[in-house]
Amino acid sequence: MLESVELVPAGLAGAVGAPGVEILDRIAVRLARLLHVRIPVRTGALDISAAWHEERQQVWSTEVLALMNGAPRQPGMVRVAYTELDLAVPVLTFVFGEALLGGASAVVSLRRLRNEYYGFPPDEDLLLDRAVKETLHELGHTRGLRHCHDLRCVMSSAHAVERVDIREAAFCRECAEGWSAFG
Ligand SMILES: [Zn+2]
Ligand SMILES: [Zn+2]
Repeated sequence: MLESVELVPAGLAGAVGAPGVEILDRIAVRLARLLHVRIPVRTGALDISAAWHEERQQVWSTEVLALMNGAPRQPGMVRVAYTELDLAVPVLTFVFGEALLGGASAVVSLRRLRNEYYGFPPDEDLLLDRAVKETLHELGHTRGLRHCHDLRCVMSSAHAVERVDIREAAFCRECAEGWSAFG
C-alpha cells in the first residue's frame, strides 16, 4: 500500500542543478490534495553525478533510478527525485521523467516543464501543474500502470510539453482501477 511519497532534490556534486526546496514544497502541497498520503520533502540533495553524461550535457534517467534503488526506505514509500538538469535515455533526445514499472523510485526533470525553456515568460503555476502531472504519471508506473491511449489521462505518453498540458491531473477510470488494484 502506498503510504508516503518522498520528494528529493537531485543534482551534481554541490547540488548543482538541484531544485530549491521551496518548489518541492509547493509540488508536495498540490500532490497531497490528490493523493491523500504523506508527502515529506527531503532537504539534502541526492548526488546524481554518476549519471551525468558530459558529451550530451544530460543525465541518464535509468542510471538515476539505479542509484536510487539501493537506498533504504520505509515500507510503502515511493521516492521521487527532481532535477533542473535535462534527463534522457540513450535512444531518446530527452525524457520528462522515468520510473521502473512496479518499482519504488522515480525521477522527474523540471527543465522542460518550465515555460522559459520554450522562450515564454516564467509561469510558476503552470510549472507546478506540469510537475504534478508528471509526478502522477511516474507514480502510476511505480504502481504497474503502462501508457494509456486516452490523451486526457495522466498516464498518456508525452513526448512534448503540449501533451503534458493536454493531460488532466487525474487517472482515467481504467487507470484509476489499476492504481487501486495494485494494493
Ligand atoms: Zn510513462
Ligand atoms: Zn488511463
